[in-house]
Amino acid sequence: MKQLVFSIVGIETYPDQLEPANQDAAIWRFINMAKFRDLMGTSELYFCRADLFPDEREGLPPEQYLATFGLHPLDVNDRRELLNHLGSDAQFREGFYVNCWYLFREETLQMWKEYGNEGVAIISSYQLLKSALNTIPDRAYIGLVRYGAKHMIGKRVNLFRYITTKRIKYAHEREVRGFLLIPDPHAGINRHYDADNRVHPLPLTPPPPHVLKGHRRKVDLQALLNGLDNIDVRHEVQRALWPDIVIDGAIGDFMCQVSRHPWPDDIACLICLFQRPAGRPAEEMQSDATGLSKDRLLEPESLITEADVDAAPREKQQELRSRIGQAVCSVVQEAMAQTISLEQQEKGFEPSVPFVACFSACMVLTEALAYLCGWDTKLEPRFQFDFLRGPAFGLELPQARSENCICGRRKNIDRIRAKRGL
Ligand SMILES: [Zn+2]
Repeated sequence: MKQLVFSIVGIETYPDQLEPANQDAAIWRFINMAKFRDLMGTSELYFCRADLFPDEREGLPPEQYLATFGLHPLDVNDRRELLNHLGSDAQFREGFYVNCWYLFREETLQMWKEYGNEGVAIISSYQLLKSALNTIPDRAYIGLVRYGAKHMIGKRVNLFRYITTKRIKYAHEREVRGFLLIPDPHAGINRHYDADNRVHPLPLTPPPPHVLKGHRRKVDLQALLNGLDNIDVRHEVQRALWPDIVIDGAIGDFMCQVSRHPWPDDIACLICLFQRPAGRPAEEMQSDATGLSKDRLLEPESLITEADVDAAPREKQQELRSRIGQAVCSVVQEAMAQTISLEQQEKGFEPSVPFVACFSACMVLTEALAYLCGWDTKLEPRFQFDFLRGPAFGLELPQARSENCICGRRKNIDRIRAKRGL
């Protein structure tokens, strides 16, 4: 009888792991068209073996750190031991496979040149990448790369510190690094010794052919690539890029929308269009959550009484009765925490109806095509329809730039665009 054992290892932590404070932070990956087509066609992320990156020091201990080994470079024996360290580490790094992203702050020409020449940027978030890696049946890790060697000085040798540290000159890359550890026990570990038993800082031969140059791992792309699917990221993109045109697709449960935001026309930008919902006054929400009147909320130190219970709406009475004798402020605090968590749970359930998402994507691509071909468009900036009624009942929703939006500061924006060569 054959047995198939399939274990999901899940993501692991490592020493000095650094993560962004906001795990919803946007991350970008700049890739050329060939890699983009490959990604879309296969849904596979490519993890490149760490010794094959253009940075020859990738995954090796930084030079400043070597001093902490306490070895003297001019002492023959010390030098031999140092080279042995380096040579061994260079072979250990062949067990790491890396997939790089950029923690988004702004679009930089340098990143495009280096990584996305004639290519595209795909957008996700730290949390989504982490979740995607969590489903891979390997030893998978994620974290921010640290630049410079300060955090390692005086600490013990650790391969994970090496693979997540780069020299300070790479700091602009703000790299989010997903990586797998797939060491090969038969790769040989003494390839840094030559025939005369002299030791070298790098292996003299590549690992045997069965040690792959890269690994591909299937991920759920639809879950990983969210485009600009939240208000903050939309704002960030508009603020950072101010491109000639942004075409955005949006969906609700059954609502489907495309919008088009050209520069410099007097048409609402993404920031004008996507506004955070305004909050309700705090005392109103507190009153709803507790059943206490607004007057009672003004006396936070006073205690809940029988009279409070009688005055409360029926559905709140039982809960309030169990709080008799407690201070108003503590009851408010508890009820608000509960309300927020309930809202969060509801928010967590956002059915993405495949038809709707698919149709929205079609509209976005149609608009993109129209733009590239120089055809006319009706969007100023958006068209929206309810999928239950159909596009024939759709609405054109014209909207000019909002007076309070930063898109009114045209001179500044033109300056930003000029810097980018637009
Ligand atoms: Zn605007």
